[in-house]
Amino acid sequence: MSVDRAAAAMFPMALDFAQRLVRVPSMSGEEEGAARLVAREMAGLGYDDVEVDGAGNVIGTIRGGAGPVLMLNGHLDVVSPGDEGAWKTGGPWSGRVSGGRLWGRGAADVKGPLAMLVYAGAALKAAGVAPAGDVIVSAVVMEETGGLGMRHLLARGRRPDLVLIAEPTDLAVRIGHRGRMAVWVAFAGRAGHASMPRLAVNPNYAAAKFLVKLEGAVKRLPRHPVLGKSTIAPTLVKVDGTSSNVIPGETRVFLDWRSTGESPAEAEAWLRRHVGGRYRVEILRKDYRSWTGHTETGVSTTQEGFVLGRAHPFVGRVKAAVREVTGRTPAVGVWRFATDGRLTAAEGIPTLGYSPAEEAQCHVTDESIRVASMKTALRVYARLCAGSSR
Ligand SMILES: [Zn+2]
Repeated sequence: MSVDRAAAAMFPMALDFAQRLVRVPSMSGEEEGAARLVAREMAGLGYDDVEVDGAGNVIGTIRGGAGPVLMLNGHLDVVSPGDEGAWKTGGPWSGRVSGGRLWGRGAADVKGPLAMLVYAGAALKAAGVAPAGDVIVSAVVMEETGGLGMRHLLARGRRPDLVLIAEPTDLAVRIGHRGRMAVWVAFAGRAGHASMPRLAVNPNYAAAKFLVKLEGAVKRLPRHPVLGKSTIAPTLVKVDGTSSNVIPGETRVFLDWRSTGESPAEAEAWLRRHVGGRYRVEILRKDYRSWTGHTETGVSTTQEGFVLGRAHPFVGRVKAAVREVTGRTPAVGVWRFATDGRLTAAEGIPTLGYSPAEEAQCHVTDESIRVASMKTALRVYARLCAGSSR
């Protein structure tokens, strides 16, 4: 049996697995149930090796020849479903299939696509095809909260030669995305009684001047030929006091900075040059803890952007696999959001995305994914694995 026929024949099982996966709530840091389910499924499907690592990631391997190691990646965690009563489609954990779609939190981001990755490996086994190089299917933890799982995998696990990310692409190919920096700009003043403003220094005026200048300066942000323009959105404004009759000692403005290549140091230099003023710039750092107890402390929240060249042979291979299955050449573009692919790309590993899920389905109430697209993706993933060469 060919890999393609095996994949098509196994699709009902793959869909059933996707439903079961959606039914296990797995918010970031609470992925144990989903991890155990994926590990059991891989073992049952004949993966050569299945490991749950120290961070709680699941790593399944199909052994191949000495060729390049291809990693297919998705994440186990989902974002909160919000008000469960607002879901009109059976609630966030229904895993219901109706109207040609699978419904529930994570259906699109990214359990539906992840289930197809797991079964792509299974299709190789069922067809008795050994890939040119090992195929690793990884289901990582804490993608939604900064990438602890992928960082651990890259630090402790086997380094793949090529990485495909299953974040939503609606059956197109994605070759990169902008980065994100979480920047606090802090304006120092001198606190005082609001009845005697001349005795204090009110930092709100400095913050206001900064924001007005920033609004005019953003048009001078850099533009990348593929990723487009960097953007800055001031979102939160906080003061160090809580009393309405006290002039605050400090005002902080949060900038959500979508970068097209600027480093944090370059971002600060850009602010000093184009906006000016007196302030401190701080990049947000955080601590993380996985369901296994693995911890990271003081990790910079900066997410680097990346772009893989359109002419890279890996892009060509994925496009060819899509053409073989659908008869059509997929569009190639970039994601609007950040993914764990930034971490593999930063290691110099060619990284791209292909997924049956639609970008607009990420993090929404009544999240869903088209069943027919899942079947297409399963066949494409299986073909890609079968021809695992550079
Ligand atoms: Zn995702």
